[in-house]
Amino acid sequence: MGRFEDSRFEDSRFEDGGAASVVVLSPHLDDAVLGLWHVLAADREVTVATVFAGIPDPGFVTGLDRDHGAVESADWMRRRRTEDRAALALADLEPHHLDLLDIQYVLAGDPEQRALLDREPGRFLAVVRELVDPEARVAAVVEAVSALVRVHPRPCLVYAPLGVGGHPDHLAVAGAALRLAASGHRVRLWADSPYYLRHGLPGQLGGPPNPDADALLRQGIRAHAGHRLTPHLVRLDGAAADRKGEAIRRYRTEYPSLQDDYGPVPLPDLLAHEAWWQVEDTPAGAHAGAPPPVEQGQQSL
Ligand SMILES: [Zn+2]
Repeated sequence: MGRFEDSRFEDSRFEDGGAASVVVLSPHLDDAVLGLWHVLAADREVTVATVFAGIPDPGFVTGLDRDHGAVESADWMRRRRTEDRAALALADLEPHHLDLLDIQYVLAGDPEQRALLDREPGRFLAVVRELVDPEARVAAVVEAVSALVRVHPRPCLVYAPLGVGGHPDHLAVAGAALRLAASGHRVRLWADSPYYLRHGLPGQLGGPPNPDADALLRQGIRAHAGHRLTPHLVRLDGAAADRKGEAIRRYRTEYPSLQDDYGPVPLPDLLAHEAWWQVEDTPAGAHAGAPPPVEQGQQSL
């Protein structure tokens, strides 16, 4: 068991640590709102960039999008971009949509892979791991976000998800952020929400013991072995949690599937918790480490 895996979470509020600018890297449209509302809603200029917001070629629909109600993935993605704009407007923010493709669209570009995933949708993450080079994916994200980060005054505070659940797009953004840390930016990783809450609130966050939830969080941290991570927890007050709930409901295309997975009742209470880690150092040679085991049912992250 690593030194940092079981550290206590310290209660915190948003503060920028003296950074000259703040950039939030959201893997998909909705991840930043779901996990990092306290930063988006802060009384501070914040840039929110969705990394895998590219619109795929027209003429096909992935099994995942079809399950969520889509007829064509390109059209679905345009709708999701519009919803993102509406959700971020509640925090007075304008979205930045980068053009890298969601991993499901990368695979779907190959009809053979598309057919395979249609037959076995539950193997989504396993198939991705067989076919996609994670290092190349991290490098693509670094390139895509570096221009964005460069235009902001330094030191820049960069937020990225930890990668709880092991989705390759989330891990790629985390890996890219850790490279930015190695080049002098300040980096914080947030707990991918609601995926880290799949088994309820982790006991480490101050509730009753919850071994399954704690184990899931530990898995996410282990994916970044070699980096010093200090845990923090923000508890949104009632008004902020309500506002966050309203923003989440503006993602109309994805909200029903979130409800299917997590249920409408416990979700708002759980989502008032926003856990994050300060990356304290990035020793030379530290890397993303081995991917955590596949968590079934998390292919919609
Ligand atoms: Zn995601």
